[in-house]
Amino acid sequence: MQFLEDMRRTMPALSDVRKRTWVFVPYDRLNDRCGPLATLAPADSGIILIESHAKGRNRPYHKKKVLLVLSSMRHFAREQRACGVAVIYRNAPESYGEQLLQIQEECGLPKILTAKPAERELCKDLDTAIQQGLRLTFQEDDAWLSTDEDWEQVFGAAPPRSNAENAKYSRTKRQYLMERFYRHMRRKTGLLMASTSFVGGKLSFDEQNRQPYRGEARVPKRPSFPPDAITLELIEWLSSNGVASIGTFDGFDLPVTAQDCATYWRFALDELLPSFGPYEDAMSSSEPMLFHSAISGLMNLSRLLPRDVVADVQAAYDGMRIPLASAEGFIRQILGWREFMRHVHRITDGFRTLEQRPDPPANRTANPYSSLLVKEINAAAPDRPATPSALDAHLPLPPAYWGERSGMFCLDTVVGHVLEHGWSHHIQRLMVLSNLATLCGFSPRELTDWFWVAYIDAYDWVVESNVLGMATFSDGGLTATKPYVSGAAYINRMSDYCGKCPLDPRRSTGPGSCPFTALYWTFLERHYDLLSSNQRLRMPYITLRKKSTSEKQELLDRASRAIGQLERGEIVD
Ligand code: SF4
Repeated sequence: MQFLEDMRRTMPALSDVRKRTWVFVPYDRLNDRCGPLATLAPADSGIILIESHAKGRNRPYHKKKVLLVLSSMRHFAREQRACGVAVIYRNAPESYGEQLLQIQEECGLPKILTAKPAERELCKDLDTAIQQGLRLTFQEDDAWLSTDEDWEQVFGAAPPRSNAENAKYSRTKRQYLMERFYRHMRRKTGLLMASTSFVGGKLSFDEQNRQPYRGEARVPKRPSFPPDAITLELIEWLSSNGVASIGTFDGFDLPVTAQDCATYWRFALDELLPSFGPYEDAMSSSEPMLFHSAISGLMNLSRLLPRDVVADVQAAYDGMRIPLASAEGFIRQILGWREFMRHVHRITDGFRTLEQRPDPPANRTANPYSSLLVKEINAAAPDRPATPSALDAHLPLPPAYWGERSGMFCLDTVVGHVLEHGWSHHIQRLMVLSNLATLCGFSPRELTDWFWVAYIDAYDWVVESNVLGMATFSDGGLTATKPYVSGAAYINRMSDYCGKCPLDPRRSTGPGSCPFTALYWTFLERHYDLLSSNQRLRMPYITLRKKSTSEKQELLDRASRAIGQLERGEIVD
């Protein structure tokens, strides 16, 4: 362990340690321009970075994610040391809080500063250590673009927390709409604003961002950053220490130094974003990433700061290097969705304030992959995973999500890419993976945990909000006006998947038909009581009511057959 030995060797003497102000830098705040570190002089400060095996035991992670996080941490430590900041770097079995307690005692630190952690999971860990004597002082986390006050200005105070109030709360159909929050944030930041008006005369250009990709524009080749000595040492250590993980280290070429992250972002800004907007929702089997910047993994570690990213996009728009629809679509993702979702997670205590409907214990052994998911559903556990399921969906996530072939080209293609790279863009997440799960009635908790395990950019505040909230309607409409579901027509229009699929997207019943459409109609039928009064679903329900009993039965037969085949790990035919 050359890196750790090097860190130990260069640790400052105790006399120097006590002269400095110490900052705990969590794994996801690897930037000296945010948090307490931003205001301290390097010669007066020290940072504590911790690798915790306990975190790795919470769930398996994608190998490329573990590598991205740990290698970025190690490079950040080196970068800070080169600037004159003292570094304490630990790798141990204990949790972050437990290791901080040990460091506090060993070094006699009167206090340690940190920014309020983004991950709820880390907050809980640190809270426990604080109760045991850790002297940790929290500061506002200024890596975000919005504050708690921004949220309250738009939506009022946080919802009630007591059980009785929770039940009432989940029945009140209170709704938080991203658009309202985004509107506020645009005005607050001045991004894409012309005085008090939105540039281009409206808030969103979403309707211009829905073109399918038919090879019209060449997708530029992304820069590649082959593993250096630090990353290679990590691969060796992770491979020989049996860390529970999925996917592969092969082909890892993500940027892990500050300089390489900046290089990658410059490429994305100059080469990808000019064409991003029109094809934002398109899906291509030959170009899975299309013009998406794919910086979420870097931004969620703070290697790239959202404030820099949106400012760069604004400047590129001002310089006429990015069209308005692309700039707005991109800024909406960061300033709108990303900030909105993290607040939803915060104010619902990670969706624990909603009514909880855990999956049955039998799900834990449903298929050979079930043990990879977090299944702590013991009601007595102090902090069990949130299990809202407004649609009462509890079927086990099927083997197809772990790479077993389903015969559904869209699903197999997207899953294959995710298992290899730990990433896919938002429409593949929403309209293939989550759409299918919602239509079939797969457990939203299992789907959430799958995303958490499989994606390099997954952290509780983003994965739970996006999957339990937006993608599966498990929150009963708290964050979305209707479930994001569709039949085969949407996937056929927005991708080239259906042309390569043995199933027929134009047929909805019988063998060989695409199951998406039958699943869609049976989903609407199954949730008639809950959804039929939803104004945004008025037209589909009018169409559904016109279907004959026999037609509905044929759709149900087709949908049931497909669900059964998926659950058994068979080819859907
Ligand atoms: Fe997916 Fe159906 Fe299209 Fe096949 S036909 S790719 S299953 S939507």
